[in-house]
Amino acid sequence: MKSSAVRVLLIGAAGRMGKTIIKLAKADPAIEIAAQCDLGDSIEPAIKSCDVVIDFSNPDAITEICRAVLQHGKSLVIGTTGHSQKQRQLIEDAARSLPIVLASNFSVGVNVLFWLTRKAAELIGQEFNPEIIETHHKMKKDAPSGTAKTLAEILKTAQKKEIPIQSIREGEVVGEHTVIFTGPGERLELTHRAASREIFARGALRAADWIMGKPPGLYSMQDVLGL
Ligand code: NAD
Repeated sequence: MKSSAVRVLLIGAAGRMGKTIIKLAKADPAIEIAAQCDLGDSIEPAIKSCDVVIDFSNPDAITEICRAVLQHGKSLVIGTTGHSQKQRQLIEDAARSLPIVLASNFSVGVNVLFWLTRKAAELIGQEFNPEIIETHHKMKKDAPSGTAKTLAEILKTAQKKEIPIQSIREGEVVGEHTVIFTGPGERLELTHRAASREIFARGALRAADWIMGKPPGLYSMQDVLGL
C-alpha cells in the first residue's frame, strides 16, 4: 500500500484502457488502484474506501456511477466517450455537487491541438472551410470519436458553421485526428497521432491527482493542464 496516495476505484478495469491504467499506476507513487470493477460487478462497497472514481468503460455505466459518487461524495474522472444527451445531463447535474473531470481525450498533445484549433479558427477567417478526419482501430464503438466532437464544437463556436467529420475505422490505429482548413488556393492542416494508449492513461492519473480538494464543477483536461 502506498501511503498518502490517491485511492482510486477503476471502472472498466478489464478493458484496453483499464489494463493500461493499472500498469502505469503501479509505477506512480501518487496513485493507488484500491479497487477495480468491470461489467457485472457492483460498485458498492468498493467505492467507500476510495477517494476518486476513474471511468473508462461504457456510456451505459454512467447512471450507476453518478448515483454512487453522489451518495458517497467522491470525485470522478470520466474518460468514457459516446454519452447520449441524457447521460451528459446526468454528468452535468452531478457536477453541481462534486468535482468531475470529463475529457474526450486525456493526452497533452490533443489538448494543445484543441487550443491551436481554437486559435487557428479565430485567426483564419470565414473564407476557409474547416473539416475533421479521425481514424481509430476497428474495435472502437463510437463514431465520430469524442475527440472529433470536441474539435467540431470548438470550430463551430469560432466559425458559426456545421463542421463535417469523416470517421475511418481500420487496423490497430490508437487514434489520429486532423483538422483541415481549406481556403482559396491554400490549405492548413493540424494533425495529432497517438502512438500508445499510455498517453491517455497518464493524463487520467494526472487528473485523478489534480481533482483532490477541488470545489464542485465540471472540469476539462485543459483545466487540469492549465491551458
Ligand atoms: P474496451 O472495450 O477495451 O473496455 C471497456 C471495458 O468496460 C470492458 O472491459 C467492458 O467489459 C467494461 N464495461 C462495459 N460496460 C460496463 C459497465 N456497465 N460497467 C463496468 N464496466 C463495463 O474499451 P477501451 O478501449 O478501454 O475504451 C473504454 C472507453 O474509453 C471508450 O468509451 C473509449 O472511447 C474511451 N477512451 C477514452 C480516451 C480518453 O482519453 N478520454 C482514450 C481511449 C479510450
